[in-house]
Amino acid sequence: MLRGKTRLLVKNFAVHCASNSLAQHMASRLHRDKSFFLMYHGVSRDDEELEATTVVRRGEFRQQMGFLKQWFGCLTTEEVLNRDSEHQERPGAVVTFDDGYANNLEIALPILEEFEIPAIIYVTTGNACERRLFWPDKIWMAVKRSKIPSINLKGIADSLGTYTFRQDGALWQDDVHKLNEDIKRINPSRRENIVDEVVARFKDAPGAKPFEVEVENNVFTPLNPDQIAELSAHPLITIGAHSHCHNLLNQIPLSQAEESIRTSKEILERLTGRTIEHFSYPNGNLTDDIIGVVKRMGFKSAVTVPTGFFKYGDDPYRIPRYMVGPNMSMDLFKARMTGIFSLAKRLGF
Ligand SMILES: [Zn+2]
Repeated sequence: MLRGKTRLLVKNFAVHCASNSLAQHMASRLHRDKSFFLMYHGVSRDDEELEATTVVRRGEFRQQMGFLKQWFGCLTTEEVLNRDSEHQERPGAVVTFDDGYANNLEIALPILEEFEIPAIIYVTTGNACERRLFWPDKIWMAVKRSKIPSINLKGIADSLGTYTFRQDGALWQDDVHKLNEDIKRINPSRRENIVDEVVARFKDAPGAKPFEVEVENNVFTPLNPDQIAELSAHPLITIGAHSHCHNLLNQIPLSQAEESIRTSKEILERLTGRTIEHFSYPNGNLTDDIIGVVKRMGFKSAVTVPTGFFKYGDDPYRIPRYMVGPNMSMDLFKARMTGIFSLAKRLGF
């Protein structure tokens, strides 16, 4: 209980400081030798109905980019890898997108253009080329569209139980996220089929509204091959690889992981006519063997999930990132990005 209270105090103090521009200035000077990689997935219209913990609304994204432009050097991965720690005026920021959603082109790119901010998009080639939704997105759709408050998924897989979905947006997202985390524990060879069974169970549930989980023209639509080529030709965009299968690479045999990484690199090089030099581990899951594969294939860097900053000389195959989720207030975003949040924690506030 006390821990929870202390956390809240730290958070409130950090958020309070971050709204002060002197504090922002000091924090950005303090961190000027560091670079922060931000992890986004999808960016939605402001009136989008489908929600997920991976989707940020357009208005939020635009405010965040404006803040980065004001206080950070907005850089490419390549620039960060070659950036020495001395004589830096401002901290670096790299905007990254995982998975490769069509909205990265349709909604995020015009905002990146407005602020002239470069970004890297790590594409999962299987979903892009075979026109498949990512399985967690099928679950977000099923829960949202069926509008049922609870479901019993016992018997479909050992890790699944009964689930209740609360009304409040943030709590609702936590509840669906919990179901997705349980599905993540299912063996990858069975997971896609089980997700389809789960969706069918939602459709058949008493009181469920009729719904579809269509691939095209929604917030979860993956980029298609033409859009990947178009993005790659854009001066602000770098295309990176995110595997072909999007399985968590430490959950499958190494030979299969290697095949998946190689396939994504080859397909993307064919689509873009460029060498693909940067990788993102699906879900951040990695082992030393997987890092070895990524290095051998000639990738120059790879990003993962844990929070932290990158400094010149750090391991470029374990680059930490800050995940940016929905409903993050601008003050909290500022507190995290200026390091005020972690500073307050360290000082014991
Ligand atoms: Zn991913």
